Amino acid sequence: MDALAVAGWHTITLAELAADLQAHRKPTPKTFVITIDDGWSDGFTYALPILHSHGYVATYYVIAGRIDTNGNLSTTQLKALIAAGNEIGDHTMDHLSLSRLAPAKLKFEIEAGAARIAQATGRWPATLAYPLGGVNDAAAAEVQACGQMRMAVIEAPWAGGGSTSPSPRPTALPSAGRSPAAVLPAAAVPSLPPPLQPVYETWANRWTIPRLRVTPSTIPANLLAELNRYG
Ligand SMILES: [Zn+2]
Repeated sequence: MDALAVAGWHTITLAELAADLQAHRKPTPKTFVITIDDGWSDGFTYALPILHSHGYVATYYVIAGRIDTNGNLSTTQLKALIAAGNEIGDHTMDHLSLSRLAPAKLKFEIEAGAARIAQATGRWPATLAYPLGGVNDAAAAEVQACGQMRMAVIEAPWAGGGSTSPSPRPTALPSAGRSPAAVLPAAAVPSLPPPLQPVYETWANRWTIPRLRVTPSTIPANLLAELNRYG
């Protein structure tokens, strides 16, 4: 975040991007969207202060069935995130791969998930992330039919392949000493760029938006270099 802010990049939410694209408004240069997956409570306790310190906002994809459960964002936290300008998106009710579900279950995962989020936040989600990258024509049509939904994000397939588990919950807060750039010899950093694999976000094939996945091994300079290709 420090590197991106110094380089002049600023954020909007995915719902704001969807509104811009629908209105044929091109976002200003050096605009990007931050998405935070799976609704863990560290998105509030750890990520929010970092976002706030840079004037950044994010789109949080929340697993609706886990709201107010241990380790996950609470109703109070969700409302505070929205009040701070962030977006709460639909990450379905149970984080199942939508490409494998029967029609009734598919509808439940998308629509009941959206309704649960609306119940908690007072606001219907405008965007959705397909869990585990699972999407087919039936799933896309169901999302498109869900009233308030304006854009869908394809979550990069989970490395576990076929698991329905969300991303692993961090057991401790990262510290500066654990960042890859800090533990590698400075001279070795340029030779160890983790390949950033763009995946694509789409809404009914109307828009395709490059996405860069950030992991604990992402080196800020490399992320910035990748982002600058689009800015
Ligand atoms: Zn997820």
